[in-house]
Amino acid sequence: MAQRHGENPWKHLCVSVVFCASVVSSLFWAAPSLQAVNTERLTSFEIELLHHALETLHPMITEKQQDGSAILLAWEALYEPLTGQQRVFLDEFRALRAAELGATSHYFGEPMTAPTILPVGRQTIRRPQGEREETILNPQYLPRPALEAYGRMMDAMELDLGRRLLVESGYRSPAYQLYLFLHYLPNHDYSIVETNRFVALPGHSEHGNPARQAIDFINEDGINGEDRPEEFEALPEYQWLARHAQGFGFAISYPRNNAYHTAFEPWHWHYCSSSC
Ligand SMILES: [Zn+2]
Repeated sequence: MAQRHGENPWKHLCVSVVFCASVVSSLFWAAPSLQAVNTERLTSFEIELLHHALETLHPMITEKQQDGSAILLAWEALYEPLTGQQRVFLDEFRALRAAELGATSHYFGEPMTAPTILPVGRQTIRRPQGEREETILNPQYLPRPALEAYGRMMDAMELDLGRRLLVESGYRSPAYQLYLFLHYLPNHDYSIVETNRFVALPGHSEHGNPARQAIDFINEDGINGEDRPEEFEALPEYQWLARHAQGFGFAISYPRNNAYHTAFEPWHWHYCSSSC
């Protein structure tokens, strides 16, 4: 049976009034489809709302993806082109918590202020034989401690293997994380629960949590394990990480059969400067 839940984001504005939450809830009851997004599978109304929102956002996001600024997307920029109804729809996703989704993944929260992040620099995939153009990765950013630790770890890997891993995805703003979640929902039959196994909701992603900054690695030949995790797992670079990454402050987040019920992600590692 479909699970319905969610909290009204406005109710926190008036916590001093005892009945405020219920009053606001009853006001929203007038539009039942906006009361709480359906987590097992979106209703047909919600699916329509989702597609309209994605269509509205597509030109702005595409432009930012091309100039490399999408991963820094601010909430204001994400909401700006949307209608009031679409904004409330997005608010419902922001109010979701992993525990409510039947998953046990962490809710890290969102940074109170935008973190200081630095560019990783130009990264290129080796040119396959016969191909003239080299592939340049989209610009990536990391907080300074993670960037420096990543550099030290890759220097050590290069000494051992003569190869380095590149950052395919580093820091991602919570607003961009929500866009990605919405973008991938149709691929998982409009099920929030199922999509959540592959894409984190904002506040739940290590990519948007500088205290536990995640990096998705890709090797210099362009292998990232996206469709075949085993392929990445078989790389000498992965084997090296498994043996040495801990010494540089990195740990794999989602090993096989992890307690979070998240898919095996051999490419996704997080950095902890102290304990986390
Ligand atoms: Zn990742």
